[in-house]
Amino acid sequence: MGALDFSGGTAIMNPPDLIYLDNNATTKVDPAVVEEMMPYLTELYGNPSSGYRFGQQVSKALDLARERVATVLGCEPGEILFTSCGTESTNAAIHSALLMDRDRQHIVTTRVEHSATQKTCELLAKRGYEITWLGVNELGQVDVGELEKAIRPDTALVSVMWANNETGVLFPIPEIADIVRSKGALFHTDAVQAIGKVPVQLADAKINFLSLSGHKLHCPKGVGVLYVNRRTRFTPFMTGGSQENGKRAGTQNVASIVALGKACEIAGAFLEHEGTEVRAMRNTFEEGILERIAGAQVNGDRVNRLPNTSNLAFEGIDSEAVLMLLDQAGICCSSGSACTTGSVHASHVLKAMGFSDERARSSLRFSFGRYNTREEVTRALDAVEGVVGKLRRVAVAA
Ligand code: PLP
Repeated sequence: MGALDFSGGTAIMNPPDLIYLDNNATTKVDPAVVEEMMPYLTELYGNPSSGYRFGQQVSKALDLARERVATVLGCEPGEILFTSCGTESTNAAIHSALLMDRDRQHIVTTRVEHSATQKTCELLAKRGYEITWLGVNELGQVDVGELEKAIRPDTALVSVMWANNETGVLFPIPEIADIVRSKGALFHTDAVQAIGKVPVQLADAKINFLSLSGHKLHCPKGVGVLYVNRRTRFTPFMTGGSQENGKRAGTQNVASIVALGKACEIAGAFLEHEGTEVRAMRNTFEEGILERIAGAQVNGDRVNRLPNTSNLAFEGIDSEAVLMLLDQAGICCSSGSACTTGSVHASHVLKAMGFSDERARSSLRFSFGRYNTREEVTRALDAVEGVVGKLRRVAVAA
């Protein structure tokens, strides 16, 4: 069928018909991940903090998950702190950096961060902290020299994302981390979109904090990680019990953490596939669009970019209309990031790159993943060409 069925007030999509090209918003949960977590939703319900064996076997499952996450990040298990999501991880890192040294009240970040960082910094600015917002060029790249100059003796934290969720543009994080360390400030990177898509190895990187989110990795929603470098002092964001080595209070979401461990293990095994097969699907799609649709353009750096993301502008077209027609054809994609969908504002990322409101509103993000097939790419190409053509014909007739 492929259309939405609103019977009973609940929209139901027949999954075999769905072409899901919104993997930067969230991902399909891997069945192997579900299988791994199921016992912890059913018979293995002990509290990992309990001293008896029924609790301790659950605690061991958390240890295994921590090891698996640490392996994919190239760090130590003791540096992994489980949280409820990427947003919490980022809030915790910022909070800790500001509380560790009260004489440092300045943060450096970019204008293209996810709202987890952006809104938190905006709020801090209202509370008297000073924020330096670094701009980006038309390709979405940050000027590393400008970043270096922005760091001051009272800078508590520099927070720069590893990969942009809207354009996929990658920032030179190890290089930035070196600069920040040499200037004596702390460094946080929001790597929510990078993990599992490009190699991220923390062993030699001068990174103090890194945020990760499970649901971008074929794991259920509501679980994340904050990496805290073992030599970095940390003040908890959540206070209460002594879970997570005293760094994050609250009984752990055991089943989801177990799921995240498995998802990270699988992500490690699929990393090469992301760089080859997923990249090939994205490239075929993007090149097909540029070839077939007049006035289509790529937003952002096409070289230093995630292998799965394509952000495209369709001249003279309202992306919300494309989104709606593609939805009717059973294709999911996004105009801007999922977190800003529904808002009338043009994407802050595209605006920061110097694009007009009009260009930002004519842009769509397609993000591929390991469950996509080449056949879906062909069908999606035909569908986008058809929808854009139809909207252009309507505009000419009007
Ligand atoms: N950071 C980036 C770059 C993201 O893309 C997202 C989610 O879209 C987040 C942070 C927030 O992660 P979560 O949904 O786990 O809070």
